Amino acid sequence: MWIGIDDTDSPAGMCTTYIGAVLVRRLEHAGIRVVDTRLVRLNPNVIHKTRGNAAICIEAVGDLEAAFDLVARCVEELAEFDNPMTNPGLVVSPARPPPEFYYAALRDFCTVDEAVRLLEATGALYRGYKNRRGLIGATAAIASEFPDKTYELLAYRKRGVWGTPRHVDARSLFRAEEMTYPHTWDTVDQENGVVVGVPHTPDPVLFGIRGESPAWVEMARSFVRSEESAFEQVYVTNQGTDAHLIPGSIGTLREGRSYMVGGRVIGSPKTGRGGHVSIILENNGAEVRCMAYEPTKGFRDVVRALLPGDIVVATGSYKGGSLNLEKIGVACLADAVRVRPPVCPACGKRMTSAGTGKGYKCRTCSERSREAGIERIERQMRPGWYEVPPSARRHLARPLVRGIPQWEEDLRQSIREYDTPSSQVN
Ligand code: ATP
Repeated sequence: MWIGIDDTDSPAGMCTTYIGAVLVRRLEHAGIRVVDTRLVRLNPNVIHKTRGNAAICIEAVGDLEAAFDLVARCVEELAEFDNPMTNPGLVVSPARPPPEFYYAALRDFCTVDEAVRLLEATGALYRGYKNRRGLIGATAAIASEFPDKTYELLAYRKRGVWGTPRHVDARSLFRAEEMTYPHTWDTVDQENGVVVGVPHTPDPVLFGIRGESPAWVEMARSFVRSEESAFEQVYVTNQGTDAHLIPGSIGTLREGRSYMVGGRVIGSPKTGRGGHVSIILENNGAEVRCMAYEPTKGFRDVVRALLPGDIVVATGSYKGGSLNLEKIGVACLADAVRVRPPVCPACGKRMTSAGTGKGYKCRTCSERSREAGIERIERQMRPGWYEVPPSARRHLARPLVRGIPQWEEDLRQSIREYDTPSSQVN
């Protein structure tokens, strides 16, 4: 059977992954064998989300009705029912609904009615509380398939200390990453010297470690020194896979979806108030603004180094008319040129302007020239991929350390055929 739960938490506390981990233990205690535990991230642009739009799927073997009663009791005991934004949903199904619903919830928007219709057709037992919105995520979780996957080990706090400051030795987290990178990632942000894997919210999570296999996240975990955890759960996840991205084209992007688009940089990058950096990409006469916000730190320097004429692919969510950058693939760099008075062909000295529209004159030997000197400037940037730092990374965004999926690299290569005009630098 497939068990799905979602929307059990609020900004004030709880976490659906915690309830999932409690459920795993209670199901096993009741003689229901757990075979898989999935942490399923859904569309990061859903406005109702508490934090990272996560839902949980547990695959188990045992009595369906017994499992349903157990899951319902667990959710009713632990979910944050008092919060008006918390609308839990739970599903226990003898079969998996088609994965199309998962992809719709991951990349688009779904309704409760769509989820319920699917659950009826699948013969699932289900219960939605309050406005029942959690049924969307619970249904998507059990419908999920992961062509690519990663793992996360989550350590949970003991109940008595929820809401108090966490005691996790930061140095031990840096050491955990140092000893296991590139097989684990995003425990810390080396470049910015900050810890990423310890939340600051009042939920039961103590820390999380992301990596390529259960063995690697457990290895990294063994280096972490912290307050004693209540229990720990390793989830298989779609985090770090770019599963949310849709290959798109500028001019057809829809609000609240996440895309990968190719285009030519037009105009110079602009740094706005708060340190946010923007560039405009153009393709086939359509334009889109791409944003690198202040929390993306050093990634903004990459965006600032782009010049008009550069050909890039950009990934990110399209929100409020802008693509919020997660990653950039530079396909082709424009030639950067500087226009200066020419060097005198007679004496080799730099000429000076002879006045507007009058060309250039050599002050040493009086030689004249109508042609300006064009100097090619070495670009500091190289074609390739650039990403936001771990501290600004979205759960679903695939870190470069995992390599580039073929379809993304194909897209970057395919747009190299665009024309690259020269770009004049002052
Ligand atoms: P946490 O990460 O701490 O578990 P959360 O960020 O997952 O919290 P939820 O409290 O689960 O946030 O709220 C997300 C709500 O949005 C859920 O009710 C879920 O069913 C719903 N939802 C998820 N994806 C979609 C979608 N694509 N379209 C419409 N509703 C969605």
